[in-house]
Amino acid sequence: MTRDEPEADATPPEEEEWQLYASAGYAAAEDPWDDLVEIEDEDEEEEEWFDGDDFETNGQTLDWDFPPCPTPLGIAHMIRLGTCDHCLHRVGGRRTDEAGEAGGASLRSEALARDKELESFETPDLCPLCENLFEDVDNIVERIVQQTGELDHGSLQIGVHVPKDLIQAEDQIRTKHGATGSRPLKAAFSEAVQTGVVARMDGVEFVKERPDLMILIDCLTLRVDVDIRPVFIYGRYRKLDRGIPQTRWPCRACRGRAEGCEACEGSGLQYPDSVQDLIGEPFRLALSANFTSFHGMGREDIDVRCLGRGRPFVLEVKRPKIRRTELEELMQTVNTNGAGKIEISDLRWSNRSEVSRVKETRADKSYTIRFSVEEPPEESAIIESISNLSGVTLEQQTPKRVSHRRADRKRKRKVVSIDNVFVEGKEVQFSVRCEAGTYVKELVHSDEGRTVPSIAGVLESPCEVIWLDVEDIHAD
Ligand SMILES: [Zn+2]
Ligand SMILES: [Zn+2]
Repeated sequence: MTRDEPEADATPPEEEEWQLYASAGYAAAEDPWDDLVEIEDEDEEEEEWFDGDDFETNGQTLDWDFPPCPTPLGIAHMIRLGTCDHCLHRVGGRRTDEAGEAGGASLRSEALARDKELESFETPDLCPLCENLFEDVDNIVERIVQQTGELDHGSLQIGVHVPKDLIQAEDQIRTKHGATGSRPLKAAFSEAVQTGVVARMDGVEFVKERPDLMILIDCLTLRVDVDIRPVFIYGRYRKLDRGIPQTRWPCRACRGRAEGCEACEGSGLQYPDSVQDLIGEPFRLALSANFTSFHGMGREDIDVRCLGRGRPFVLEVKRPKIRRTELEELMQTVNTNGAGKIEISDLRWSNRSEVSRVKETRADKSYTIRFSVEEPPEESAIIESISNLSGVTLEQQTPKRVSHRRADRKRKRKVVSIDNVFVEGKEVQFSVRCEAGTYVKELVHSDEGRTVPSIAGVLESPCEVIWLDVEDIHAD
C-alpha cells in the first residue's frame, strides 16, 4: 500500500510559522530583540518534544508540524502522541462505521496499515487528551444506575467537572492537531456517559434544563452525586380556623431543635399545626421526600381566617423519591386530615418560576372585620362615617407590631370599597376591599395615629378588632 499524501498542503510555510510565534504573546515586549530570543526558546521546546523520534519518509525528515486531522499525517501524529481510541475517533474527523472507541480503533488500524513504523512506536500510558478518562465511563454509568435506580424520574441532566489543566491541555492539542469541529472533551465525555446510561435504563431522557435529577460527576475522584430536584404543586387554601400560622413556627423555648423540649412537648414547634404542614406533610409522605417549603401569595396573621376562594400557594417538595402521584387523591387526604382547619382546591403541577410569580403578585384583598367601639356614636353616624372611607387613600406608617422586622416608613394604600356596615350594640362589622399591602387592622384602630384616616379617628373613640377574615384574594 502506498502512503497517502495529505489532501491539501495545510502546512504553513516556514516563514509564516515564525511570524506566528513572533506574535504569540511577545508583542508588548519593549526590546525588539526579545522576541528573537523567545522564538529560539519555543523552537527548542518543540524539538525536544520530538526528541528521539526518527520518523522519516523517503529518507527525508518531515517537518514536526504536521497538518491537522483528518489528514493521514495528522492521524498518525495523534497516534504518536498516545491518543486513545475514544479521542482518536472524536478528533480524527473521519467517518467510521462505528462510533466512539470502536471507531477510533478502526482509524488506528487503517493508520497502522498505511505506516508500519507507527506500530513500533511506544505508546505513552496516558492519553494526553483525556488522561484515559473514557476508560471510566462504564464505572461511572454503573454508579449512576445504582444511585438513581430507586428514584422516580423521567429526565436527567449531567454536569461534569474536569480538572482545569486537563481541559486546557486537551484544548491546545485538539485545536492544533485535531479536525476542525471536533467535540471538546467535556461534551464528548458527557455524551459517552449518557449513551451508557440510556443503554442501561428504560425511559430516561437527557435534558439541558429543568431535569428531575441532576447528576454531577467529578472526573478527578470519579465521584457521582445525584441531586434530586424538587417538585412544585400549585393550589389554593382556605384557613377555616384561627390560631394556625401559615408556615412552621419553631418553638421559642428550644428554637425548634429536632428532639424538642418540655414546652413544645417534643415537637419543636410553637404551634402544633401550620398551613404548611397540614398541606405539606401528606405530600412529603406520599412523595417520600425530605421536607417542604411553602410559598403563599402573601399571608394572613395567625388569628385571621382565609375564606372565599382561598389563597394561592405553591408547595415545594424537596428531594422526593417519588415524583408522580394523583393530586386529586392527595387533596382528599389533606382535606380529610385537616377538616375544620384547612381545605385546599385547584391543585395542579407547577414549577419554580411560578413561585416567584405567586410571591410577587400584588392582588387586592377583601376582608370582613368585626370590631368594638369604646364609646359608640349614633348607629346612623357610625354607618355613614365608615362608608365615607370607601375610596380613600390611607397613609400608613409601619405598624408597631411589625416594626421589629420591617423598615419604618410611610406608605399609601387605597381602600377600594367598603360595604355591609352594620352595628350591634358596641360592635360593628363591615366588608372592605383594599389594595395589596394594606394593614387592615390598623385601618380600624389607627395604631396610635400611625394610620390616617382610620375608623377610630372618624368615630372619635378607641376601637378594637374582634376578628378578621380574608374573604377573597383577587388574583388567578
Ligand atoms: Zn483519550
Ligand atoms: Zn421546644
